[in-house]
Amino acid sequence: MRLLCGIATIATCLFSLSLCAQKVSVGLFFDVPVKAATFAVQSGSYAIIVDDTLLVAAIDRGASMQLSHSSSGLRLRISGDNMGVFSSVKAVGMGDEGVFSLTCTNPMSPSYSYAQHAFIRSADDGSGLLIVNQLNENFYLSGVVEAEAGCSARSEFFKTQAILSRTYLYAHFNRHAKNGFNLCDGVHCQAYKGLLTRCRRIRTAVNETEGTIVIDMKKRPITPSFHANCGGQTCHSENVWREKLPYLRSVKDDYCKQQPGARWQKRIALSEWRDYMSRNGIRVKNPMQLEFAQLSRKKYYEVGEKKVELTKIRQRFGLRSTFFDVRVAGSDVVLTGKGYGHGVGMCQEGAIQMAEQGLKCENILQRYYKNTRIVNFNQAHSTLAMQQDSTLFLFNPWRNETPDTTIFIDSTVSVDSSEQQAFTQEDVH
Ligand SMILES: [Zn+2]
Ligand SMILES: [Zn+2]
Repeated sequence: MRLLCGIATIATCLFSLSLCAQKVSVGLFFDVPVKAATFAVQSGSYAIIVDDTLLVAAIDRGASMQLSHSSSGLRLRISGDNMGVFSSVKAVGMGDEGVFSLTCTNPMSPSYSYAQHAFIRSADDGSGLLIVNQLNENFYLSGVVEAEAGCSARSEFFKTQAILSRTYLYAHFNRHAKNGFNLCDGVHCQAYKGLLTRCRRIRTAVNETEGTIVIDMKKRPITPSFHANCGGQTCHSENVWREKLPYLRSVKDDYCKQQPGARWQKRIALSEWRDYMSRNGIRVKNPMQLEFAQLSRKKYYEVGEKKVELTKIRQRFGLRSTFFDVRVAGSDVVLTGKGYGHGVGMCQEGAIQMAEQGLKCENILQRYYKNTRIVNFNQAHSTLAMQQDSTLFLFNPWRNETPDTTIFIDSTVSVDSSEQQAFTQEDVH
């Protein structure tokens, strides 16, 4: 009876999986060669399918699977019993529900909880296990917002962060298509540490903004860069990366100036600073010539006619930002800086303060992303269906099989994948 029930539920579940759009597949521990992992049911029931054949109709709370990589395939044990070696293992949550924990046991990693389904097989390069968590878009976005923004801010800030995370998801939905999933869980895509555990307001913010994204004037999802604190002024995109994007413009920001990331200071030996500058073409007789000030953000550290990119200096000396002054003090230089992070796009601490003071997420987004529109993707699709207007965007990430290239079907616009991929969130703090 239990078996029949299980099979019926699996059939319903698989059917709903195929019909139910807005599922996201996330590659877990993607940058780690996982040799062994433990899957444990935390709530609900899971059907275990091996090589597309039902192996166990239902395992419940407390049951676990041990998965290990071997040269002949994927070795599976369930609660200690050896089940054999397979090409793939799927743990499908009954009724599209269920929560499981996943722990890498080789190499060891912290354990995280995940919603809905897990698919496991050997990685294509044979280095270990490929583990994919398939779940509803809103569950995924809630986890991302918590990982990127903590859980102590106001709802309007969480809505802002949810819209940005969704914009990124839609723009990069096929980023890992060749790997067999949509996005990875690292900073290469968007940080994701599983199920939201601490803050229900984030889930509400994600639900209330469902379908909402930010697009540029060419109707493409923007690159939603953000950082911890701009120090009072954000950066032009081209001052940090190569591309000049019309919406990533420098803006003044008074909201973040009293926040934790607003100020920093660092002492560096004058000899080290001088040597570095000398290697980069700035040679001075008098060390006082090395002093430098930024009343507003600059792209270069300049001494006379010579200059070095501030981003290069930031990287070399591990500085919190490029927005700093230099003063010579005895045998040291003292760097007095403002802000934390690359400075492009939204300033999180400024946005948090704007939300504290009652501003709506739309106002916050439009302050940091110029020449953009906030649109509801779902409504735009239904409008399109009615109007047959080819200038409205048509891209549906859940039906589009092609990699990150053309985002919209619009004869006047094409999106170059290199432009999309030039920006990642690697420098987000
Ligand atoms: Zn990635
Ligand atoms: Zn700021």
